[in-house]
Amino acid sequence: MLTLDNITKKYKARTALCGVSLTLDCGIYGLLGPNGAGKSTLMNIITGNIKPTEGKVFWEGADIYGLGGQFRSLIGYAPQQQGLYNSFTGRRFLSYMAALKGIPKKEVTSEIERVLSFVNMQDAADRAIGAYSGGMKQRILIAQAIVGEPRLIVLDEPTAGLDPKERVRIREQVRALAGNKIILVSTHVVSDIEPIADEIILIRSGSIIDRDTVGNLCKKHDGSRDLEDVYMHIFGKEESYASSDSV
Ligand code: ADP
Ligand code: MG
Repeated sequence: MLTLDNITKKYKARTALCGVSLTLDCGIYGLLGPNGAGKSTLMNIITGNIKPTEGKVFWEGADIYGLGGQFRSLIGYAPQQQGLYNSFTGRRFLSYMAALKGIPKKEVTSEIERVLSFVNMQDAADRAIGAYSGGMKQRILIAQAIVGEPRLIVLDEPTAGLDPKERVRIREQVRALAGNKIILVSTHVVSDIEPIADEIILIRSGSIIDRDTVGNLCKKHDGSRDLEDVYMHIFGKEESYASSDSV
């Protein structure tokens, strides 16, 4: 169980997150909100990459900063920026990430095969990442996130910039990851998350404005047939490309 207690993040004068409290149990959660809402900031705080200005994050009741390396091995994180090692091959990148995660040496080879096969990248594993398509880069990012079978998986806009076919493929891979773990996926495109999320967390201007199942969100925003309607109802034209971008 992951608990965020009153998280605030300020960048100088700008408040990126404002008093966010949230408890997540196993399941797939869609973090949905327009650009600038605070999704990446929230994910960076959950994964311990940036410190909140105020508030704390707890894993099973323990402060993640107290857990240190132990927490590192529990999480898998695919950041939004593709800060990828373009000159590395996919396999070398994965083996580097496995080392960072403290995967025992004798398990690395089989673990890399497992994650490569999960994202269906075995054939491209020995090519340089720089030569990958956008979809392949996202898949290798997901592959490194699932090294070591983490119990908390955080994927920041894994479908950004992908064509419809690739978006569906990523979505189905995320669905296949579900199990005894927490999966948090951010997007500003409703159709990437609607079919697979147990719950949707709606974020706007640094605050969580609601979290619920798609069905309940539709009921609350009467007249909404689907999540797309709910999104338009709440965020309006803030992100008019969200619908045109969808599958
Ligand atoms: P999202 O991922 O939902 O698009 P972000 O978390 O990236 O939103 O950003 C939330 C807000 O915080 C935005 O207004 C953004 O400009 C601001 N912000 C994010 N990172 C920084 C930073 N390093 N310095 C200053 N402002 C930032
Ligand atoms: Mg972002």
